Amino acid sequence: MKRKIKVKNVLILVGILVIIIVLLTIVIFGTNSKLDNKENNKDGDKEIKEIITDFKNMRLSKVEDYSKRNNLELIINYDYSDLEKDIVINSELNDNVLNILVSLGSIPYDDYKEYKVNELGKVPIMMYHGIVDTEENEYTGGNVDKDGYNRTSKAFLRDLEFYYEKGYRMVRLNDYVNGKINVSLGNSPIILTFDDGNANNFKVTGKDTEGNLIFDPNSAIGILESIKKKYPDYNVTATFFLNNGLCNQPEYNEDIIKWLINNGYDIGNHTTTHADFSSINTTKTQEVVGKLYQKLDSIIPGQYVKIIALPFGSPYKKTHSNYQYILNGEYNGYSYQTEAALRVGWEAEVSPFDASFDKTFLKRCRAYDNNGKDFDIEMNFRLLDKNRYISDGNINTIVIPKSNENKLITNSELKTITYEEDV
Ligand SMILES: [Zn+2]
Repeated sequence: MKRKIKVKNVLILVGILVIIIVLLTIVIFGTNSKLDNKENNKDGDKEIKEIITDFKNMRLSKVEDYSKRNNLELIINYDYSDLEKDIVINSELNDNVLNILVSLGSIPYDDYKEYKVNELGKVPIMMYHGIVDTEENEYTGGNVDKDGYNRTSKAFLRDLEFYYEKGYRMVRLNDYVNGKINVSLGNSPIILTFDDGNANNFKVTGKDTEGNLIFDPNSAIGILESIKKKYPDYNVTATFFLNNGLCNQPEYNEDIIKWLINNGYDIGNHTTTHADFSSINTTKTQEVVGKLYQKLDSIIPGQYVKIIALPFGSPYKKTHSNYQYILNGEYNGYSYQTEAALRVGWEAEVSPFDASFDKTFLKRCRAYDNNGKDFDIEMNFRLLDKNRYISDGNINTIVIPKSNENKLITNSELKTITYEEDV
C-alpha cells in the first residue's frame, strides 16, 4: 500500500512539474514571438508593399533596382511598341528569374519608309500537291507533269530557298485567316498548302528505336524539316488538306497526323471523296465535308483547322446552292462549321486587313514553272515585288502608307498607323 501511495505522489509531482514547465514555456516564448512579430512588422510593412508579380508599365530602372534588392536574375528583351521607351511591355516571374520585355518606343517612321512597310499588300498562298523524288524531265523547271501538280523534290527545295531569299517568312494559314501575321520588320508572309494527302508529302520509312517516325528526306516533310534547321527564322509550317485516305499510309496515318500537329503543321479538310461540289446535291455535300471533320475529330479532337480546300477549286462562285453547306452543315447528327475555304486560284490573295478580304473564298498560287508565264511561281513573285505585304514586325499594329488608307477594313481591333511614303 505504502509503495503504491509513494508512486502516486511522485506521479502527481511530476505532473505538476510538467504543467509548470509548459506554462513557463508558453509565457517566455509567447512574449518573444510577440516581440519578433513587432520587429517583423516594421520590415514586413515594407515587404508587403514590395512583393510585385506583374511589372507591366513599370520603368526599367525601377525594375532593375527591385531585382537587385530581391536577388532576382533579370533577363531583358527589347521590342518596339506603343509604350514609351524603357517601359515594361510584359513580364514573367518564375522562382528567381524575372523575364521582361521592354519597349524601345514606337518604330521610327523612317523605318516604315525605308522598308516600304505595307500591311495591305498581297500574300501568296502556295498550292502544292505531290512532291516526287524523281529527276527533272521534259516539262519546264521542276514540274513532273505539264500542269505542275507534281513537283520534284529538288524543285521544291529550290522554291523554299527562293522564297526565303526574297524575304518571305512562313505564317500558318489559320493565323493569316485570323489576321495574326507575325513576321519581322521588312519581311513578307507566305503560306504553304498541300492538297490530296499524297504519301510523298510525309513518306514514313519506319520508326527509330524510340518509336519516332522516320520521314523520307525527299518527301515534303523531309525537306521542310531540313529547311527548318537551316533557317530557324523562316518559321517553317504548312497546312495539309486530307481526304478519306488521310496520309495514304494506313499503318502510319494516325501517327503522322499527330506528329504534324505536334511539330507546327496543320491539317485541313479536302472532303472524304475529293468531290466536285458542283456536281453533287446538298445532302452529299454535307456528307463529304462532315465525315472528314468527324474523322479528324476522332484522331485529333479540336486540333485541326476548320478550313476546306475546294477539290478542283469548285464551285467557282459562292452563289452556288451548295456553298452554304460547305460552310455550315450537318451529317448524321454531327454538325460542323467551316471558317475559311481555299480555291484553286492563280495569284496572291489580299491582306486580311483589306476591306475586300473574304476568308471563305481565298485564291491560291499554283506552285509550278512555266517560263515566267501563266501565273507560275516566277510570274507571281514578279508581280508581288510591286504590291506585296511588308510587315512592320508588330503583330498588334497595322502599318500602311497613307495612300492605301481607303482600302482598310473598318472593324479591326488593331491599332492602325499610316505614314507618308517618299514619292
Ligand atoms: Zn485535290
